[in-house]
Amino acid sequence: MTTPRELRFAIIGAGMAGILSAIKLQEAGLTDFTIYEKADRFGGTWRENTYPGLACDVPSHLYSYSFAPNSEWSHRFSPGDEIRDYFERVAAEHGLAEHARFGEGVVRCEFVDGRWHVETTTGRDDVVDVVIAATGVLHHPRYPDIEGLEEFAGACFHSARWDHSVPIAGTRLGVVGSGSTGVQIVSAVVDEVAHLSLFQRTAQWIMPQENPPYTEEQKASYRADARQLEEMHAHLAEMFGMFALAVVDKDSPQIKMIEELCAANLETSVRDPELRDRLRPDYRAACKRLVVSPTFYEAIQAPNAALVTEAIERIERNGVRTRDGVLHELDVLVLATGFKVNAFTRPITVIGRNGTNLDDLWAARPLAYLSISVPEFPNFFMLNGPNGPVGNFSLIEVAELQFAYVMQLIERLRSAEYREISATAEAMHAFEAERVEATKNTIWVTGCRSWYLDDRGIPASWPFSFARFRAEMAAPRLEAFELRP
Ligand code: NAP
Repeated sequence: MTTPRELRFAIIGAGMAGILSAIKLQEAGLTDFTIYEKADRFGGTWRENTYPGLACDVPSHLYSYSFAPNSEWSHRFSPGDEIRDYFERVAAEHGLAEHARFGEGVVRCEFVDGRWHVETTTGRDDVVDVVIAATGVLHHPRYPDIEGLEEFAGACFHSARWDHSVPIAGTRLGVVGSGSTGVQIVSAVVDEVAHLSLFQRTAQWIMPQENPPYTEEQKASYRADARQLEEMHAHLAEMFGMFALAVVDKDSPQIKMIEELCAANLETSVRDPELRDRLRPDYRAACKRLVVSPTFYEAIQAPNAALVTEAIERIERNGVRTRDGVLHELDVLVLATGFKVNAFTRPITVIGRNGTNLDDLWAARPLAYLSISVPEFPNFFMLNGPNGPVGNFSLIEVAELQFAYVMQLIERLRSAEYREISATAEAMHAFEAERVEATKNTIWVTGCRSWYLDDRGIPASWPFSFARFRAEMAAPRLEAFELRP
């Protein structure tokens, strides 16, 4: 018989997955943990992104923790500040503030003599047994490589760094990028600005989705009977499972249905055939991350809106010059140009066993066994890590399943059965080989540029069914791990 060990944890990041980890550790009676957060409050992506029109295109009753249903969601797809408030409320209800160190980013984690030394921006050296990296996926803004960007005389900012000190009402506003973010911004601001120019490099398929508000009666009914919320969560999860099946099988009837819906949306919503042509993508729907919007086509047809499909030549003091020589004069320029998607834990320096640097291991691209564990980095677990399910699922459900899996490994550390747990190199490479093979059948490789694709053009995502993900996460296969007593 071994004596249970007291374990100390560092959780990196106070977003959705960090809050989840802290709550689950507490539930298991593991209370010796600190959440390190470089910013000043809970909320992760919902704290960082504050642009007009911000919402989540996963229905709110699914984009909620399974253990914290919320009867008060205002809409089927509720706005971003409501989502941020939800996370803050859940964190407060679980007393997480006393565990959180805000304004303290982690700069380095090093595995020394069986424990992790976690160094922070304040110079702290916290020695812990387990690190949970809940650092997010779409986190580091990607600025476009467009000549003259710094010459623009007006306000210019990335969508994830929205400058609320800049009034936009009555301005000539330009938006570069027509992904989920650009589309949401355009729909939200078109009625407010004097003129809007959307610089679209690639057209996007748009999935129509109504966004009705919940009535007070509905909310009261959910409040009175929490079972309804659980049922709704389960029903929505099942529907999303169908969508997940569609994207991993490019020949599935489900993907054909999505394509038809998007095509019909374009044909029936855009009146001018010339504009319709310029909005019609030349690749299959859901090849890029599908954009969901009930309002975008109306917005882009507004009399004060212009869709600019001519390529950008350069940015000048007064606006954006396109390759046809036209200068589009602007007061404000918003860069809705996406994120560096392969940063994961970086720029934190992570040094594992024998001085192995994660940056070296990931020199080509990030890699992990089931997106959670990396060989020679014992007791270092990632949530929403490399090549995990992104884009087509509720990342909350993904993180919940991943944490339940990690918790089973933590229990083995706690029981002192093992002191160090990390995936074997064989397991990681075998999983990766199978993953890469499976991506060949997905919609993501049918001929488009997207943030899913890595430098080789291989989707950096989970290419199997969600049922398989669920099954994998149900219990760790111990033979895939190096377990040191
Ligand atoms: P994104 O999907 O990566 O889109 C970036 C856009 O910027 C694309 O239209 C891209 O054009 C354009 N772009 C990039 N560099 C450019 C350049 N140099 N010149 C011209 N155009 C350029 O980024 P995002 O819209 O921020 O969305 C990222 C992801 O965040 C989404 O896919 C989604 O997963 C998530 N998100 C979700 C929601 C939600 O409701 N759940 C909302 C917002 C974001 P190309 O297409 O030609 O590359």
